[in-house]
Amino acid sequence: MSGQNNLESIEDVAEFYAAIDRASLRHKISAERPYVYVTMEVYDAKNGIRGAGGLGVLAADTRRVAEQLEIPFITLTPFYQEERHQEMNNLVPHDIAVAKKPSDFGFHEIGEVNIKIANSPDSILNIYEKQLGSTRFLTMTEPNFGQLYSGDSSGDHRLYQMVSLGLGGYKALKMLGVKPSVMQLNETATVFATVARLDELCVNGMDIYEAIVYVRKHNLYTNHTLVQAADSEFSFEQFEKFVFPNIKSPALRHYIGGLFRDDRLRMSNLTIELAEAKNGVSKLHARVANYRDLSGERVNFKAITNGIDMNTWVMPEILNLYKSKNIVDKFNMPSENYVDIINSLSANEIKSLKKLGRARLNAELKNRKDQYGNAVQIPDDALVFNFKRRFVAYKRPWMPFEDIDEIKAILQENNAHYVMAGMMAGNVGAGDQTYDHLQDMLTKIKYDDFLRERVHYITDYDENLASAMSIGADISINVPEVGWEACGTSFMKDIANLTILVSTNDGGVADLEPAPIMEVRGRVYDEEIASMYEQMRLAADMCRDDEKWAKEVKRELSGYLPIISGSRMMQDYLRFLFKTEE
Ligand SMILES: *Cc1c(COP(=O)(O)O)cnc(C)c1O
Repeated sequence: MSGQNNLESIEDVAEFYAAIDRASLRHKISAERPYVYVTMEVYDAKNGIRGAGGLGVLAADTRRVAEQLEIPFITLTPFYQEERHQEMNNLVPHDIAVAKKPSDFGFHEIGEVNIKIANSPDSILNIYEKQLGSTRFLTMTEPNFGQLYSGDSSGDHRLYQMVSLGLGGYKALKMLGVKPSVMQLNETATVFATVARLDELCVNGMDIYEAIVYVRKHNLYTNHTLVQAADSEFSFEQFEKFVFPNIKSPALRHYIGGLFRDDRLRMSNLTIELAEAKNGVSKLHARVANYRDLSGERVNFKAITNGIDMNTWVMPEILNLYKSKNIVDKFNMPSENYVDIINSLSANEIKSLKKLGRARLNAELKNRKDQYGNAVQIPDDALVFNFKRRFVAYKRPWMPFEDIDEIKAILQENNAHYVMAGMMAGNVGAGDQTYDHLQDMLTKIKYDDFLRERVHYITDYDENLASAMSIGADISINVPEVGWEACGTSFMKDIANLTILVSTNDGGVADLEPAPIMEVRGRVYDEEIASMYEQMRLAADMCRDDEKWAKEVKRELSGYLPIISGSRMMQDYLRFLFKTEE
């Protein structure tokens, strides 16, 4: 990872709170009453917790930004003792599990909590913590905890993991002697943290309905999923086994029991009942996410678009430029006149940074393997396209290979390489749509003499690769099917690192209207494919002319900088969460 020591020391976070007109926050959030962020997934390999994708990257970045802004903040998350990696043999992806221990990453054990399971012995969770500035990780684990998202999303083991995170995690907070000032529930798998809080209030004598009113006011449900039906749901019997034995208040058990419909309860329905504040992660997503509460009312999501931790994702030399020219301030917030300053940057000064970026990409690629098991090096004079996204159908990683002659011509005419990466879902094989598409794409590439040399699928996608690819590429391809991307943050990594974005207008990209990108559009798939090739050619042309190139990257950066800024995201959350109490 780059840029970790690029931080300026911030003497007093009061200045940040003042800057966002919430000076009184200093009294609302404290070490004893921290901002608690609950998440099944964190993507922070340096701290030993490596998630699966965007949700985890967001969680990791949110904590990092909180640390930089000296916000008292706790990330409540499981520590998975097995981490999933992917390698490729004969073009077939294979999962490998790598063992991890909290003690290898500076975590300290602070105790144990028991999770009761009906008709089974208790499960004993070990609680570990790690302090990082004003923030800390508080994690729970045990040898049979399993991998992130292992098993069926509505299966027993998943419910066990959710209960361990929520009910176990809340007990861990008590162990530390803290009470959440607010709890942000990063997706519905975290809802049992709130159930635990309710239980505590009821056991202490509060009426169940008063307790619900209280927790609703202190919870934020952050939704990343477009389709409610994709959410986990469990049967009453599963609750009797894993949840109810851990709830002391009969009134609370009775209340939850009353939320079941046809013997099942969807986790989004439970979360919606228990959180007044709800948000989606881009403007488009908040608008289109069609969720209903148990009475059938459509849920209103506030839009708070994801941002990224610029210290983590922007090449240090580029971030230094942004800071020294006052494009961003010491909080990594866009300055007042950032647009003018960006426009005044010379092509030369930013082009040299991209050269440096290419060297960083090659340094990363030296330690990585392509689809044939070889390390790749990109010649200095070549143009680089990147595609780096999880391999799921809606992100359409195969789209640039729909017309092999066309992609070949584009790469040939522009002396270009195409570097792609992205994990496949685990445990899939022939018959799975994404798997078959990947096989088909890689096979076409392998049997073409030119493409075999120019298209590199780098295996075991992770954040180091994501970072190096956004820093070292010239043009990034991002083509989710419109309406399917909740936000996406990899496009932000590209723009922040002066990489031209060729993209459909979806997720966070669509926050701006019109979107200042090389937009891929079309009413049907074939039109979109043609539009994508056209934009790839136009972008490649720009890269041959420094002035045109600079104009485009500056246009994209000045448009998206406020969206990209993770501090802006934190500001939005703080304003949203504390608005009623000012
Ligand atoms: C940034 C990042 C993501 C998020 O990707 P999107 O496709 O934008 O959702 C996922 N995985 C890794 C490793 C990343 O670095």
